[in-house]
Amino acid sequence: MRTWSLKARLVVPVVSPPIVGGVIDIAGERIVGVRSGGYADVDLGDAAVVPGLVNAHTHLDLSDCIQPLPVDGGFADWIGSVIRHRRRSDADPVSAVKLGIAELMDTATTLVGDISADSASDELLEHAPIDAVVYREVIGVNDGRAESSWNDFARWLAARTTKARILAGVSPHAPYSTHLELMSRTGASGLPSQIHFAETPEELLFLKERSGPLAEMLANLGVGETSGLATSFNEILERMPGVTLAHANSVSEGFLIAHSSHPLVHCPATHTWFGRSPFPLARLLASGMIVGLGTDSRASSPEINMGQHLGPLLDTHRDLSPAEVLACGTRHGAKALGQERDHGAIAPGMLANLAVVSHSEKGVSALEGVIWNLGHPLGVLWRGEWRKINRLANASVTWHD
Ligand SMILES: [Zn+2]
Repeated sequence: MRTWSLKARLVVPVVSPPIVGGVIDIAGERIVGVRSGGYADVDLGDAAVVPGLVNAHTHLDLSDCIQPLPVDGGFADWIGSVIRHRRRSDADPVSAVKLGIAELMDTATTLVGDISADSASDELLEHAPIDAVVYREVIGVNDGRAESSWNDFARWLAARTTKARILAGVSPHAPYSTHLELMSRTGASGLPSQIHFAETPEELLFLKERSGPLAEMLANLGVGETSGLATSFNEILERMPGVTLAHANSVSEGFLIAHSSHPLVHCPATHTWFGRSPFPLARLLASGMIVGLGTDSRASSPEINMGQHLGPLLDTHRDLSPAEVLACGTRHGAKALGQERDHGAIAPGMLANLAVVSHSEKGVSALEGVIWNLGHPLGVLWRGEWRKINRLANASVTWHD
């Protein structure tokens, strides 16, 4: 097992205060020590090292969207565009996933939560230098469609070979599209789970009254019988006590705090694309909630480089500190995916998944400069090996095998 150490002008463990001139000791794929100085095999010089980012919610199989799909017609209309994109005659989810993985490789993300319509990403991710939870989607409004969706999921789960790095999860799509029975089975499965939740005000209108644009969308899709769907948010959470909630931007803070055992995933770029009102991120964090970050898909975000979204998030939430933003993009994301034992911090025992960024920004605080530079990492270490090092030419690197 290779043991070595790296040093940088600033090491930001996230779970403990930043260390000027910090040294990280690595053995194989794990961190075995964090020191405040002394000898190191690799001196990264004027750089900052942070935990690899956790993109807790994306859809790699939509990575072939050249640009986000228009939202002028409202949320239901946008869903219709996504469905048309998926059903077009030359649709090729495998190629889309490959594009998405290639895009991720150049970013600071080392753990991804991928919502996958048909689990096309599962095997492709196993051959890529990144860790993942693949949440296979289950969906269906009427009994028959729901049953067949669960059967497809169960067949995939039974057939997949055991993979230590790529974990299997399940994602009931959304309250307006997914039979309550699928949510009960998800809750009983004990698997990591995630659902699109309270993404738009139209969703609550649909649950309560079966009216509005989402009711019209289902009618247009030929779905008439909706008695298998929830009529309240509570009904959903009761069935899935551990489910992670993606978006949750159209429900009150009080409701979320009252259900704080459910981690949240906020997708800042998608939030902006839909023109949503400000997300109460600082207050939710202050209440002790877990709020990871995601990029969502290229159908509502211009890229899936999460580092690019952190600076704008800081800009639009002046009540958040750079340390809080970084914690959301690392530690909280790991918790939202149930992977906090291995990911999201620089500490002994954690995987050596690290992002290296320039530390030479002038005119902003050290950590704010780090946040703005995370969209263009100088280097990324994944499980103790350099996944990206091309911009670290000035580092004095000595290899020991
Ligand atoms: Zn999504």
